Formats: sequence, C-alpha cells, structure tokens
Amino acid sequence: MPKITECDRCLLFAHNPHLVCAVHPEGPKGNSCLDFRADPNTEPIELWEPEGASYYDGKLILQPQQRFTTEEKLELLDTHPLFTGVCPECGYRFPKDNLPAVHWDCPECGWVDDSV
Ligand SMILES: [Zn+2]
Repeated sequence: MPKITECDRCLLFAHNPHLVCAVHPEGPKGNSCLDFRADPNTEPIELWEPEGASYYDGKLILQPQQRFTTEEKLELLDTHPLFTGVCPECGYRFPKDNLPAVHWDCPECGWVDDSV
C-alpha cells in the first residue's frame, strides 16, 4: 500500500495504516498524484526549522539549549585570554610557558574566568 511523500501534506490523506486516502485507497499510482490537494494546515516539512530545533526522520526535535549564541562565541574568541593570551580586564599577559589549563583567572586584577 504505497503512499507518496505528497500524501503527508494532502487534505485527502487518511492518516490510517489501512487506507491511504479516500480517492486512492491503495495509494496513488506513480510518483505524483492528480488528486493531491495541499493541506494549508501542514507545514512543508523540509523547508523550515525554528531556531534551536531540527528535523530528524521528519520529526521536529528540540536541540539542547546552546550555552552561547554564535555572537557570544565570537566575542569570546575576541576577548578570552585562552585565545588572546591577555586578560580582558587589565591587559595582563599570561605567561606563555605557564598557561592555565582550565580557568584563566587573572592574578593581576582578579578577573575570574567563568566561561568554562
Ligand atoms: Zn587582569
């Protein structure tokens, strides 16, 4: 009982495992259907994804909250001593031969690295 991809978006689609639709109980012949009527209430599946969600197997899955937006990440790249080697507060230069492994707390001004 084949249905085609259009069926999911069709007003006539029966949403019934034993019946494709009232016009073509066995499913339309071929890859397109002359009786296809777009259901205005159905979102086109492959075109649109809300922010923070993606389609997997045709189902909309919410992504876990990203800790940083892209903008914040870019700012982090610009200012974080991990990337600049310099304290964003006072400009203290972290010694290159003794770099902190995780937290880049500044010994000069007390700036605390809370990004990790
Ligand atoms: Zn500092």
